[in-house]
Amino acid sequence: MAVLLVTNDDGVHAAGLAALASALADLGEVHVLAPEREQSACGHALTLHRPLRVQPLRERWHAVNGTPSDCVNIGILGFLPERPALIVSGINHGSNLGDDVTYSGTVSAAMEGTLLGVPSIAVSLVDDGDLAVAGRVAALVAARVLVEGLPAKAFLNVNVPAAPPRGLRMTQLGHRVYTEKIVEQRDPRGRIHYWLGGGEPKWEVLEGTDMAAIHDGYVSVSPLHLDLTHHRALAHLTDWAGPLSSQLRRASRRAP
Ligand code: MN
Repeated sequence: MAVLLVTNDDGVHAAGLAALASALADLGEVHVLAPEREQSACGHALTLHRPLRVQPLRERWHAVNGTPSDCVNIGILGFLPERPALIVSGINHGSNLGDDVTYSGTVSAAMEGTLLGVPSIAVSLVDDGDLAVAGRVAALVAARVLVEGLPAKAFLNVNVPAAPPRGLRMTQLGHRVYTEKIVEQRDPRGRIHYWLGGGEPKWEVLEGTDMAAIHDGYVSVSPLHLDLTHHRALAHLTDWAGPLSSQLRRASRRAP
């Protein structure tokens, strides 16, 4: 039976993690390795400057004093009885759509799995959604990935709507509209401080995006990859190398 690694960023005691682990139970030997505390919006952080401890909670369930990416590293690089056939991260409490995936610990766990060569899926559920439904979606997508595999360096970002899904769409990431301002306040001692993330988030609900799918009541599945190079920009800007090289040589000659 294939070994599956399940993790999340809401912490090892989150309801979404338990729902995911039980939904995947028929697909393989599920091992849970998850942060002992909530790590939402931790991004792709790795813990390199303190020891990581793995605490057994029950059979094949462990808490790690680290991030989702730490859990994936520990799982793949030797803690599990064998290399996992699949990593599933979630079920996150709240959606991970569009540009927000760059902050998401849930999505980062799938990125880390992909970097380490294991097919990976991130699963998130819109606020007030049904974990049982999201679990069924996760199991269907996971079963398909186990059979078909994924293209090299690609992983899947799955979002499940709050209402019973009308179907499933393959999507691209949408984009945020940055209308928010920081909130500036004074504390009782008169010092200024700031709050990020105030106000209602706004999105371009464009056809073919994850936002549009969720907006229309569909499950969204976005294939993502880790190549951050902007290949069109590279082609467009390649002429910069010559003049910048000359300037660099002149600047180096002038330097003492
Ligand atoms: Mn979270």
